[in-house]
Amino acid sequence: MIRFLMRLTGLAVLLCAPASIAHAEDVQTKDARWSIAIHGGAGTIERGVITPEQDGEIRAALSTALEAGSKVLKAGGTATDAIVAVITFLEDNPNFNAGKGAVFTWDKTNELDSSIMDGSDLSAGAVAGVTATKNPILLARAVKDNSPHVMLSGKGADAFSREQGLEQVEPDYYATPYRLKQIEDMLAEKVSAKDVDYKFGTVGAVAMDSKGNMAAGTSTGGMTGKRWGRIGDSPVIGAGTYADNRSCAISATGSGEYFIRLAVAHEICTRIKMRVSDREGEAGLSQTDVQKIADDVIAELGELGGTGGIIYATPWGQAGYSFNTPGMYRGRATSDGAQSVSIYGDEG
Ligand code: ASP
Repeated sequence: MIRFLMRLTGLAVLLCAPASIAHAEDVQTKDARWSIAIHGGAGTIERGVITPEQDGEIRAALSTALEAGSKVLKAGGTATDAIVAVITFLEDNPNFNAGKGAVFTWDKTNELDSSIMDGSDLSAGAVAGVTATKNPILLARAVKDNSPHVMLSGKGADAFSREQGLEQVEPDYYATPYRLKQIEDMLAEKVSAKDVDYKFGTVGAVAMDSKGNMAAGTSTGGMTGKRWGRIGDSPVIGAGTYADNRSCAISATGSGEYFIRLAVAHEICTRIKMRVSDREGEAGLSQTDVQKIADDVIAELGELGGTGGIIYATPWGQAGYSFNTPGMYRGRATSDGAQSVSIYGDEG
């Protein structure tokens, strides 16, 4: 009886799902191909701006994060589990503006934003302005999996986090001396918002797993000195995060207001999807075509005045980046054996 009910539920899920999105069950394993891309923020990251020690620490952290995600994918795990493994690691690392090490608000508090999307069924979860969850990406995932909603904010999201039994931390958990100095310098008008914000940022990951399913996730403390409950693109599905098995998975970092106005993550996926349905069909797009679409959207972002970048993964096993800043903390790996971690714009 239980088995029958489970089968019935499975059938109902299949019938309710949008017909054209390929699910794990429908997709061939494609010789267990997988791909992953990660980022730890974009900005004025140039040689000489960060010390050799910072350079080394960041590369080591990105490599470990990439390895954590790749391990999940190599073992046949889901794209969602892979990106969560990456993002929780980066949230715990104080070098990044997410979880521990998040930037401070104008009131010297930390308000964290995060989102996650599963490209196999377009399910998504997001939180904005949360203050007590150790790993906001886990809260975004809980919203996706365990609530009827897509986006929760502030006190309500904090309460949901406690109800879900997620690890809670004291307000001072997120603080680091570096971030405290940034906000203190800003409040003392020693440095402008532009100078403190455009160096280190947000973290994110995108992946395609061996079943062809895609996922994207992003986590951030937002912008130093943010006020009035400001929310950037990171928790906005379609702006900072998007995933759809038919086109791509995207995670963004940069000046959030511009990413929201262009709906950057969704825009890139839509252009890829249109191109597939108009021309290429099943064969998919070449990486050159995908790169051009991503670069075109980032160029439009630049024309509007926005700075930053995105990482992408596609259903055809590609993983890459596009950014208009001098550098971006980033890494990518594929089942073909390719693996790299980079910081500056002139690196591969
Ligand atoms: N995009 C983030 C925001 O606007 C900031 C960042 O990526 O560094 O909140």
